Amino acid sequence: MYEKRLDNRGFDELRPMEAETGVVPNAKGSARFRIGNTEAIAAVYGPEEVKPKHFEKFDRGIIMCKYDMLPFSVPDRAKPGFDRRDTEISQVITNALSRAIRLEEMPRSMITVRVYVTQADAGTRCASLTAASMACADAGLPMRDLVAAVAAGYIGGSVCLDLTKDEEDLHDEGATDVPIAFLPSKDEIVLLQLDGKVGHEELNEVIKMGKIGAMKIYELEKEALRRRVSNES
Ligand code: ADP
Repeated sequence: MYEKRLDNRGFDELRPMEAETGVVPNAKGSARFRIGNTEAIAAVYGPEEVKPKHFEKFDRGIIMCKYDMLPFSVPDRAKPGFDRRDTEISQVITNALSRAIRLEEMPRSMITVRVYVTQADAGTRCASLTAASMACADAGLPMRDLVAAVAAGYIGGSVCLDLTKDEEDLHDEGATDVPIAFLPSKDEIVLLQLDGKVGHEELNEVIKMGKIGAMKIYELEKEALRRRVSNES
């Protein structure tokens, strides 16, 4: 049984968070999102001409996202360059953002999103997606909604929100990690992955807890964007 969390948080408690936009002056839009010891910075470029040209779509824009962990983001130094994990995470972020951005309003153009993880303590794909969606909004792209993402999970019979790396590594407790991303105002799930084993009913509980956590992240994202607008005016 997992009765008390390793960092003494409540089972439905998120780690302390920070969100801000406009952190990369040379990008069209940018954002930083921190949750506990996990932090991601996202920069957005475009809409611009599609390169290479054969990727161009005459009726919609395309989006290219790249996720990368900086070498100093983890204690044992992440290897530079893209590995299979980076490629997978880049793809799931691209898929989720494609549902949030109104690509049909920008035919024949391309949006590029670069996300860098500066500190990793689990949940980096969710933090990256949250930062990327704020950066897209900061760039003024037409959007259906922001993306709010968090990992929930199931450890030793308990549903948990926002797992740390130490919790993900509780293999004897059968730790299961479920990254989830929502378009909150549309009530749509745009990313759902599962690493581990969990029953059907428990999975519903995990998703429910993830959704409540994502709503808190959503409020923080909106607050960061509002702050930016009021600072500019
Ligand atoms: P996520 O970061 O979205 O939870 P994973 O489950 O693949 O994705 O990774 C879990 C955690 O494992 C990361 O957040 C990070 O703390 C750690 N990790 C991932 N890759 C490496 C690496 N190359 N070196 C050290 N730690 C890593």
